[in-house]
Amino acid sequence: MKVKAHSAATIVVFTCLVAIVSFEARTGRSQSQNSKNDSQNPKTESLVKPTVLATDRATTKGVAVSPFAEAATQNFALRNELTWTFGSKQQHGWYLYDLLIGQTLKVPPAAATPDFASAVSTWQKQKGLSPNGVLDENSWMALVAQWQADRLKDKTPATPDQLLTAPPSDFFDPERLPGLRQVEKTTYTAYKAMLAAAIADPTLKLAHTPKGELVPTEKYFKIISSFRSPEYQVQLRRQSPGAGSAGLATHSPHFTGRALDLYVGGDPVDTKDANRAIQVKTPVYQWLVRNAARFGFRPYFYEPWHWEYVK
Ligand SMILES: [Zn+2]
Repeated sequence: MKVKAHSAATIVVFTCLVAIVSFEARTGRSQSQNSKNDSQNPKTESLVKPTVLATDRATTKGVAVSPFAEAATQNFALRNELTWTFGSKQQHGWYLYDLLIGQTLKVPPAAATPDFASAVSTWQKQKGLSPNGVLDENSWMALVAQWQADRLKDKTPATPDQLLTAPPSDFFDPERLPGLRQVEKTTYTAYKAMLAAAIADPTLKLAHTPKGELVPTEKYFKIISSFRSPEYQVQLRRQSPGAGSAGLATHSPHFTGRALDLYVGGDPVDTKDANRAIQVKTPVYQWLVRNAARFGFRPYFYEPWHWEYVK
């Protein structure tokens, strides 16, 4: 309760501050005495070049102001409150995707800052959207569509000659049967290269052998699921009829052998918000968001564990 009251007070104070500051900026601009300075007036210039001005703050009575201060206030609220629909389920906010958003917009994932709003605006411009810097439903769905478009398009099931059977040591469940340890060959090579880079990163502290294999007790980065035949997928759907379309798709990228579910923490493949909130904070997930593209892997934004090899 204390925390809630405190953050509510912070929002109120911040909102008031932004309101005062923007009011002053507006009245300031309308005064004729300022008109001769219009070319140097940051507020006027901001209408043309908001990105340049994100770091170039005007000051009003000693308070730093950004042209994106109002957008930042709105993003702060939308991050938790935006309602949108995905996989025929109502979703709340975009806070689970902070890191992916930051990676895509090339900005630190701090949603309440003017710099973040400025980066949103730059991206909106590229997409032909109104560059207001606010990640509202329209812009958010466009960002989701962009991520979805980066995924595997061809979901033709892999033929046996395209697959290899990976050793049990690569798998989260070492008891997994050989038929369920198949991976598309080039995907497997890319996975091993990515794993070697992750092991070489001391911040991840992955427990490994001198040969660069993950030890049996190390769970992070191991493969939970790889190639799944259309027949096996049908069987899985029968076993859990409640699973949403997002969970067990009829045209699954897993048919290709190029989709890997990797262990990134928490309950391995549970889409509950609380579970994903744990997963998106693990160093392994954060490493994947920053580095997987170098190895040809693209995320499925909704499932932190699901990565697709798209080369
Ligand atoms: Zn998957």
